[in-house]
Amino acid sequence: MFLHTYDRKKAQWYLKRDLAKLLENKNGGRAIQLLFDAKGNGHREGDYMIEDRKNICVGCGGDQQLTLHHVVPEMYRQWMPLVIKSKSSRDLLLLCKHCHDAYEQKAIQLKKDCVKRFGIPLEGEGWIYLPEHRRAKKAANALIRSSDKIPLHRQKELTETILNFWQKEKISESEKSDGNTKEEAWKNILQSCSELVDHYKGPDFVEHGKKAIQILTERTEYNDKNQEIWPDLEAFIKEWRQHFLDYLQPKYLSELWTIEGDIYTR
Ligand SMILES: [Zn+2]
Repeated sequence: MFLHTYDRKKAQWYLKRDLAKLLENKNGGRAIQLLFDAKGNGHREGDYMIEDRKNICVGCGGDQQLTLHHVVPEMYRQWMPLVIKSKSSRDLLLLCKHCHDAYEQKAIQLKKDCVKRFGIPLEGEGWIYLPEHRRAKKAANALIRSSDKIPLHRQKELTETILNFWQKEKISESEKSDGNTKEEAWKNILQSCSELVDHYKGPDFVEHGKKAIQILTERTEYNDKNQEIWPDLEAFIKEWRQHFLDYLQPKYLSELWTIEGDIYTR
């Protein structure tokens, strides 16, 4: 199917969404070729993906401070099989900052539910913690931020915690520089301690989203074209779509956008 570029706006719309490619002929004329069969099995005529849409928030219709919202959070989407995550523009919707922030408050509940479901905290698992670094860091931050509000005896304890850590780690050797007054040296120690790394990702570290998607793609089935499909992952994507509809209650979302809309891009 070819569209001539006299319908320039329409042509740009298809090109931007990778739904068409630009063709140039010998005479310098231009046309686009649609990369889908408008009447075939892929995107049906009247389908959401080829519908013209306005640049407004699907929640309230506003046109200020618009952001692209991933209906399935990026922390999950990034680990999905390519046939799902590539061109998943169906699940990419325009929201204004207000609607986005309001919905994120609700989305955190579903994410917390996923913590139990997949048995892994949102910050991932496999962190290595350094308790002594953490103690020294907390002490330094307390002294830097609010030493005037801390009783003297407590200030002394915090100072000892820092100095003990400093001596034990023998960091002082490299930090000493000539001409520093005692006060300057102490300030440097405080500053260095407040910036200490107190935890890092260990060799077995796993992201929350990665583990979730691994679990959701464990069960593989095949469709009638013998292509891989993942029923549990499909259900998870539809769950997020449903959650988005239930909690954001978008008043300006196309009626063609449905929970059952395509998940795979093949
Ligand atoms: Zn809005």
